[in-house]
Amino acid sequence: MEHKVLSLSDFDLRPTPCRIEVLSLLQSHEYALSQGDIEQELSNQFDRVTVYRTLKSFLSQGLIHKVLDDIGGIKYALCKELCHQGGHAHQHDHVHFKCDQCGQTTCLELVHIPSINLPANFTKKESNLLIQGICNLCNQP
Ligand SMILES: [Zn+2]
Ligand SMILES: [Zn+2]
Ligand SMILES: [Zn+2]
Repeated sequence: MEHKVLSLSDFDLRPTPCRIEVLSLLQSHEYALSQGDIEQELSNQFDRVTVYRTLKSFLSQGLIHKVLDDIGGIKYALCKELCHQGGHAHQHDHVHFKCDQCGQTTCLELVHIPSINLPANFTKKESNLLIQGICNLCNQP
C-alpha cells in the first residue's frame, strides 16, 4: 500500500520535535496507534501533555483521524485521503478492522460504511464501524 509522504508544512503545522517524531512514527506503521503506543515507541522522550497536544493539532488539521478500538480505546491513523481540514468532528466513512490475532487495527480505506437511515429527529454526527476478525497478514500461511 503506497501513500504520498506528508509533511507538516502541508498542514500548516510548525515543525516541533514532538510533531516530527510522531508523524514519522505514524508513517512507519500500517496500523493505528494509541497515545500510549506512541509514548512508548518514542521511549517517553515527550511528556503525555505534549503528545496529547500534538495528536490534537494533527486531528484538527486533517493529518490523522480517530480509530475507535474494541476495548474502548482510541487509536490514531494517518488520513490517506484528503479530508476537511480544520473541521469539527473530523470523520471518515471507511471501515476499521481489528485483528484478534495480532491485535492491530487498520484502516480499510476502500470499504465504506453503508449509509444508515435514522429515525426522525436523530442527527448523525459521526459513525464508526469496527470489524473484528483475522487480518490479511495473519491469514497468510
Ligand atoms: Zn482525515
Ligand atoms: Zn493480524
Ligand atoms: Zn481509518
